[in-house]
Amino acid sequence: MNQLSLSRNSSNPLKSNGNVVSTPSLDTVQQVDINEREFRRASQSKSERWTLRTPTKRDIVARLERVSAEDASRLKQCCSAFRVLTCGTHTLRSYPTFRCKKMFCPDCASERANRLSRQTEAKIREVMKTNSGRLCFLTLTMKNAATLDGGLVKLKKSFANFKRKKVFKKHIKGYFGAFDYTSNPKTNDFHIHLHLIVLRGKFWNQSDISDTWRDVTGDSFVVDIREAKDVHKGVKELCKYVVKPLDLMKMPDDKFLEVVKMKKGTRMFISGGCFYNVKLDEDADDADDNVFSQFADLTEGDACPFCKQELFDVFVDRAQHIGLHQLNAMPNIVKNNSS
Ligand SMILES: [Zn+2]
Ligand SMILES: [Zn+2]
Repeated sequence: MNQLSLSRNSSNPLKSNGNVVSTPSLDTVQQVDINEREFRRASQSKSERWTLRTPTKRDIVARLERVSAEDASRLKQCCSAFRVLTCGTHTLRSYPTFRCKKMFCPDCASERANRLSRQTEAKIREVMKTNSGRLCFLTLTMKNAATLDGGLVKLKKSFANFKRKKVFKKHIKGYFGAFDYTSNPKTNDFHIHLHLIVLRGKFWNQSDISDTWRDVTGDSFVVDIREAKDVHKGVKELCKYVVKPLDLMKMPDDKFLEVVKMKKGTRMFISGGCFYNVKLDEDADDADDNVFSQFADLTEGDACPFCKQELFDVFVDRAQHIGLHQLNAMPNIVKNNSS
């Protein structure tokens, strides 16, 4: 990977185009508040995340190829090429040229979960400033369902009735939640449940919740409520529930295909009450972590904030993209700040 030389003026086939951009003057050097150690650490973790997902993705593609060639090829294309902004030494920004945005895609799902948990936590904390109560985790479980679509419809309907109950309104000021499912290979059905973060006003005990839940579902009564001690961790967990591509590999072929073919736009998150505004902005751009988002406004022709060399766009493949972030992470990289 260290061999990957990226230079504007070389005949590197990775180069995006040959447009000549004049050398940047120093007044175009954007002032960014960069902590070198933070930059290295963020680069390191970015390369680790992408590395970790690579084999999972390969496995899912291989499995998909047996059941749906079209979905397999989209998944394979997703995040296989990147456009990066670099000075040749420092890679400041990288975006995949194509994202499949499927929930079973390890790359798309995890970006989505990261973004969602960041947005959600901020909004929940905001709401908590003006609302009193205890933050709790509430899990509502359904009896196993033969199909995913059918089970989700039933759970959504049950929850709609549940939240209309007087007793719900009396105790719960706001809720934010995610639908979650696992498949049981032995019984060949789905286990579907709803994980919620709720703002509880008055204390509501588990057996009362269970009675009410049985009331609306007719046959399901397994519920769990506990106080949320760590909001950050809790939100992170919750946002991961709907995106567990690893579980996919354990499903039998027909259940696997059901998940893959799940209707696009099937809502997996819900919110209401004082958490009504806690929603995922589905159309938002890929938000990088805080460190990389500092570079969002830099473009080709600007100067690298680290070494003042001119930045240029270049297209690289997945492995090269990971390599560039590893390179960023190396301690000697961020040293040549021009004085
Ligand atoms: Zn994807
Ligand atoms: Zn640089």
